[in-house]
Amino acid sequence: MLYGIISDIHANLPALEAVLARLRDCGADRILCLGDIVGYGASPNECCTLLGELGGALIRGNHDDAAVHPGKEEDFTPPAARCIQWTRRQLTQASHDLLASLETPKLVDGIGICHGSWPDQNLYTTSPRDAVLSMSAMQAPLGFFGHTHYAEWYEADGPDAWPREIVAPDGGECSLVEGRLYFINPGSVGQPRDGNSCAAYATYDDQARQVKLERVPYNVKAAQNAIVAAGLPMKMATRLLLGI
Ligand code: ZN
Repeated sequence: MLYGIISDIHANLPALEAVLARLRDCGADRILCLGDIVGYGASPNECCTLLGELGGALIRGNHDDAAVHPGKEEDFTPPAARCIQWTRRQLTQASHDLLASLETPKLVDGIGICHGSWPDQNLYTTSPRDAVLSMSAMQAPLGFFGHTHYAEWYEADGPDAWPREIVAPDGGECSLVEGRLYFINPGSVGQPRDGNSCAAYATYDDQARQVKLERVPYNVKAAQNAIVAAGLPMKMATRLLLGI
């Protein structure tokens, strides 16, 4: 089985289409989506429809949660909260129902998938200390997370070993070794923050026991134009070109 792993789409349709085209081309059998389908970007319904039709495993991110639970955006920065309020007004009933149905975390075919961390969708995993919280709790040797929009992975020699952090904003290959634990962030499809403006995703080949972190260029200008046309905060458009 070849899994396509995506996270933090943030309503960026050109980026999602570019990633899904790549995953189709490489023969991915199943999509695992780590949350934040909506928020920031201008195409929430289109992204919900595309992902809903794929029939993969989807989990909830904090933006998906806030989009269907008025008041939850109060914890967000003011521009992010404005985006969520805009998103809420755009959602079709079908998109709303899809987002409201999402849960987190999940074990899929023995693979852990979560948004920020295994115990808490809102917690950012940015250090080995953070990673231990999830790696010790998820009851699986391999897990994926998102939320930081930063492509990287944590690798521990065993359940009692301290994990190493390997950053991979330009992509990377992680060959899984029996007995080791892995907690991997594919990066963000729709709003990368690791300095690489290309859309990020990962594949996991369970026969070859290999995870590849990949990037694909997409039409950033089209995503920016849609954000500006929707009247969303300008910062959400400018940051896409910088990958921040
Ligand atoms: Zn996000």
